[in-house]
Amino acid sequence: MSHYKVAIIGSGPAGLTAAIYASRANLQPLVLEGMQPGGQLTITTDVENFPGFPEGIMGPELMERFRAQAQRFGAETKFEMVESVNLETRPFQITTNNASYTADTVIISTGATAKLLGLPQEDALMGRGVSACATCDGFFYGGKEIAVVGGGDSALEEATFLTKFASKVHIIHRRDEFRASKIMAQRAMDHEKINIIWNTVVEDIEGNPEDGIKGLILKDTQSGDVRNMPIEGLFVAIGHKPNSELFAPLIDTDDVGYIITKPDSTATNVDGVFACGDVQDSKYRQAVTAAGSGCMAALEAEHYLSNHEG
Ligand code: NAP
Repeated sequence: MSHYKVAIIGSGPAGLTAAIYASRANLQPLVLEGMQPGGQLTITTDVENFPGFPEGIMGPELMERFRAQAQRFGAETKFEMVESVNLETRPFQITTNNASYTADTVIISTGATAKLLGLPQEDALMGRGVSACATCDGFFYGGKEIAVVGGGDSALEEATFLTKFASKVHIIHRRDEFRASKIMAQRAMDHEKINIIWNTVVEDIEGNPEDGIKGLILKDTQSGDVRNMPIEGLFVAIGHKPNSELFAPLIDTDDVGYIITKPDSTATNVDGVFACGDVQDSKYRQAVTAAGSGCMAALEAEHYLSNHEG
């Protein structure tokens, strides 16, 4: 079984920044990249707010650069999926789909996953008219009329992106005000191809896996009126769920599942285990804040190791 001083679980901006710092501290970290190597930014398009890229950069390219930088200093990255973690033993034990490892410290950077509406047909129609990733599936909706559900930055960013393909994009939001930042909201509201449907929820999706979707049943949250809206694609962009199940119940989380870290620290309730990025951040959830917390986690792991040498 290979042993590492630092094992990093997850490979988004948090995990790979932790890997850059840990490798530059000569700790030769192991990075277990997981199901979505590079994390959520690999399914996004233009990243316009990551400092140092005034013209913007495509999400997948940005993450490629993170990984290359970590590898340059000796981080070992593996496309493996972690199946179980034992944080009750020392060293810690990690089992993936391919191997088992031990580690003196663990940095959890497993990020978050897109939430769905919970409608019965949603799963069956996923990839057949329903999508949670505009970047992945937008191309299939050329010239079609589609809808995006949600009122946050993700929904508005996806809706704006989808205008490149679709003939019309309806944004369906359950309130009469967007949660998104003003600049994103204004960009969407000003767009000639975007129509906003306020105070409305999706009650049902009409369609089948063979033919795709034909329309939505919408309910007005104010009047209670129910109506049918013909569309050919539905993009769900209603937020994310932290990927912390693997560490339950040993690692403390809040009610939603976000890992609780000590104030001004990435330390969890288990000594030697640190958490960074979206799995512990319900507030900012930005690539740059994730990267910052990844840096903190690596520095704290290094400090922990130097205090526990021998
Ligand atoms: P979010 O900010 O949590 O917004 C989720 C949206 O979905 C809200 O408008 C919410 O409505 C709605 N929603 C939640 N559950 C719903 C349900 N069951 N049915 C209908 N609507 C539902 O999530 P996000 O948009 O994914 O953004 C997450 C974080 O990432 C934010 O901090 C955001 O700023 C950031 N982000 C930034 C960028 C960027 O800067 N380029 C891009 C994407 C995301 P309510 O408003 O009524 O709660």
